[in-house]
Formats: sequence, structure tokens, C-alpha cells
Amino acid sequence: MARYTGAVCRLCRREGMKLFLKGDRCYTGKCAVDRRIYAPGQHGQSRKKISEYGIQLREKQKARRIYGVLERQFRRYYDIATRMKGVTGTNLLTLLESRLDNVIYRLGFGRSRPEARQFVRHGHFAVNGRKVSIPSFRVRPGDEISVREGSRNLPLFQEIAQLAATRTVPDWLESNPAELKARVIRWPERSEIDVPVQEHLIVELYSK
Ligand code: SF4
Repeated sequence: MARYTGAVCRLCRREGMKLFLKGDRCYTGKCAVDRRIYAPGQHGQSRKKISEYGIQLREKQKARRIYGVLERQFRRYYDIATRMKGVTGTNLLTLLESRLDNVIYRLGFGRSRPEARQFVRHGHFAVNGRKVSIPSFRVRPGDEISVREGSRNLPLFQEIAQLAATRTVPDWLESNPAELKARVIRWPERSEIDVPVQEHLIVELYSK
């Protein structure tokens, strides 16, 4: 299945909440969720009772859309999560959270996850000094993330450095925005993953 390339604001409206997919625009009055808080499409305003399956499905779709992951890859994350020690739902979120594009967004080196993903794709980032252009690359404790030498002086990244200096970074990451560098200290804890997702519903959906 190809990556979704349609209007991303429709995804937020479908989930009935802001998924922050557009960066700065999400914080302005132009946000589609603020203006039309109902699902897109012809039947968007119809009131329908959602089944238990529907609730679980929406929760899974929401998580997928927040992290920008396709169904097959998401399912693969779930399978890995079931084989890990601990709570499957928490493991799933930890796997999603440790994706390189997400970490770059968390550090404020990208204004949204889609933008962070694009930066990675365009080869602007390195992990432990080596270029990484795979957004799903999984970072681990101890990894050093940096903007590559050739990109550091671009006006875009000068602006990003200023923005990143104003961002609050979660405790499992250590950021040095002035040098456009960061380090992963440890795996994130569930309380530090502030996505509005009830992961147990996703586990229920997949374990049927
Ligand atoms: Fe979602 Fe941002 Fe669009 Fe608002 S502006 S609907 S938060 S992507």
C-alpha cells in the first residue's frame, strides 16, 4: 500500500482530535479541527453508535497516523512488542517512540513528525556519526544524533536550532540545540510518552 499523500488535516478530523501533523499551522486558528470538529466526508456529521471493534480500530488508526506508520509496519511493531518482556501495549509505544523521525520531532529538530521524517529521508541526520536516511531507524540508549556537517549551516537548520532551544525535551533524551546534537539516555517510560492513545485497545484488536 502506498503512503497516504492526501490532506493530512482530514486524518485529524477523522480521529476527532489534533494529531499535530502540520507543524506551526496546528497551533493557529487555521487548524481544521478547531474549525470543523466533525469527521470529513458526506456522512461526517451523522451520529452513529460505534461498536467495540470500531473503538479499537479507531485507536489503532490514531496511533498509526500520529507516528506516520503504514498498517503492515505497524503490525510488525506489534508482533515485536508481543515477543518483548513486559506489557505489550507499552512495548508497542516504546518501539514507535524510538523511531528516528519521532526522536527528531521530540528534540524539536523537526516541527512535526512528517517534517522530521522528510529531514531524515533527505539525509540531514547522522546517528553515531554515520548518515541515516531511514525514518524508522530505531535509536537505542547511548546513541548520538546530530545534524550532518553539510546541513548544519543551512538557514533552515539555523532556524531549527533556535526553535529547538525553546522546546521542552523529554527526560529520556538530552539535547544540545546550539550544536544541533542530542543523545538518547535511556528508553522512554510510558508516563513520558504523551500520545493520546489507549494502547490496550490496540492490543485487544490485534489479539482477536
Ligand atoms: Fe491536524 Fe495540524 Fe491540520 Fe490541525 S492543522 S487538523 S492539528 S494537521
